[in-house]
Amino acid sequence: MAADKTFDEYRSIAAEAVTRATAAPLFHLIGGERVESSSGATFETHSPVDGEVLGTIASGDAGDIDAAARAATDAFADWSTRPGKERKKILHRVADLIEARADDIATVECVDTGQTIRYMSAAAIRGAENFRFFADHAPDANNGRSMPDQHHVNFSSRTAIGPVGVITPWNTPFMLSTWKIAPALAAGCTVVHKPAEWSPYTAAMLSEIALEAGLPAGVLNTVHGFGETAGKALTEHPAITAIAFVGESATGSMIQAQGAPTLKRVHFELGGKNPVIVFDDADLDRALDAVMFMIYSLNGERCTSSSRVLVQESIHDDFVARLSERVRALRIGHPLDPTTEIGPLIHPRHCEKVRSYEAAALESGASVVVGGPPTNPDSYYVNPMLFTGATNDMSIAREEIFGPVLTAISFADEAEAIAIANDIDYGLAGYIWTGDTGRAHRVARDLDAGMIWVNSQNVRHLPTPFGGTKASGIGRDGGPEYSFEFYMETKNVSIAYDTHTVPKLGMG
Ligand code: NAD
Repeated sequence: MAADKTFDEYRSIAAEAVTRATAAPLFHLIGGERVESSSGATFETHSPVDGEVLGTIASGDAGDIDAAARAATDAFADWSTRPGKERKKILHRVADLIEARADDIATVECVDTGQTIRYMSAAAIRGAENFRFFADHAPDANNGRSMPDQHHVNFSSRTAIGPVGVITPWNTPFMLSTWKIAPALAAGCTVVHKPAEWSPYTAAMLSEIALEAGLPAGVLNTVHGFGETAGKALTEHPAITAIAFVGESATGSMIQAQGAPTLKRVHFELGGKNPVIVFDDADLDRALDAVMFMIYSLNGERCTSSSRVLVQESIHDDFVARLSERVRALRIGHPLDPTTEIGPLIHPRHCEKVRSYEAAALESGASVVVGGPPTNPDSYYVNPMLFTGATNDMSIAREEIFGPVLTAISFADEAEAIAIANDIDYGLAGYIWTGDTGRAHRVARDLDAGMIWVNSQNVRHLPTPFGGTKASGIGRDGGPEYSFEFYMETKNVSIAYDTHTVPKLGMG
């Protein structure tokens, strides 16, 4: 769904939806009840639009996580053994309610995160699609395979792994939460969700919607709070069997260590520094559009953003000149204005980090073709940036900046493009633009990344595997085979035809 309303219309929807969401302190949802933290602790959250306090949020700790894990454990036996058809029905009702409240969710998301309505209107709807997609697979979730051999019938089946923890970040938080929570619930797991502390509101809307849709109490629990308290406690709780985590690579590493004593199964979707490789035989108009979209949409706060553009030397100067013209023309503005292309970034700390890369670019000898300080340095806005003349050893080419910042690197030939693309800690996505089919196949084969798009921006198709290699993650999401594999245990049963030999011991 495109943003199909005017700025004024979105502002008036937001005025009501945000007031409703923020009127009272935001509590946890544990066992179907809205509860404050057992310690009574709270924190304030601010809107990136104007830096004003948006509301007060319950700050969970180990006690609240324990209560939520118990609620999820109590609810597990019933939820996991309900017929898949029943789970399907309830999850479709969740999707219906998300659709009915898509504008509320989208506008609250914009005010809470600074993401723009032109993308958030679709993100809310994608959340509903995630629920529908996995709901439809719920009736088959327990299915396994038949693998007969000469003397045995082997068959496998799957059962939900247990109560799981879901920990999500602040960029497009609603859509990302549904992406994890929907398959977990469809598989029969119960969930304790710890949303990002910088963007708590739409997670609360999701848990309210789920209750209203008839999800039994305790099946989806939401505990707000900080990573080092609530998040850490969730990863350490013995009743939580698995952690699905989306966030930074460094946090993933901490979570793996925290979960080790209880042998947590982990699924990690982490950072990226994704290359888009533009060869001189590509459709350069389409390539330009895609390069712009994949770094300057969603404020550049996107794990699959193409934050390194590798341009073949023969077209480099022309392509970069066209690129810089477009970057200068980007419309920065209020996130609820449908004409806005770049909104404010999530938090002053994040703004500071993103802005710091301009100085890093200059210090390392690259050129800042577009950039400069924001008009109001106290705002949460940053100017979109384009760096050129970069080499792959520079921090602007190696580190995930997670903002509207693009680093251009020139290459001579296919081999050099692949070498530069792979010389990085991350391996989430890669984008290839070429008119040569053989080259497209060769480069796609040789790029070390979990997802490759040829002559395309990132277009998500839910059955396909989503995830990264190296520091970009462990495991894949998508389709029943990938997502259910994580949220379920597989059991094999082997039954003999009584035709095989049983070895005899102790016969003298
Ligand atoms: P983050 O790692 O700082 O935080 C993510 C979540 O982890 C938050 O809820 C936070 O409270 C929690 N957390 C922090 N420390 C924790 C700990 N010790 N134990 C348990 N939980 C803890 O990430 P962020 O800054 O919120 O999000 C941006 C990052 O997310 C980027 O690196 C981006 O690439 C990544 N991301 C990846 C994908 C993907 O699919 N690969 C998608 C979106 C975002």
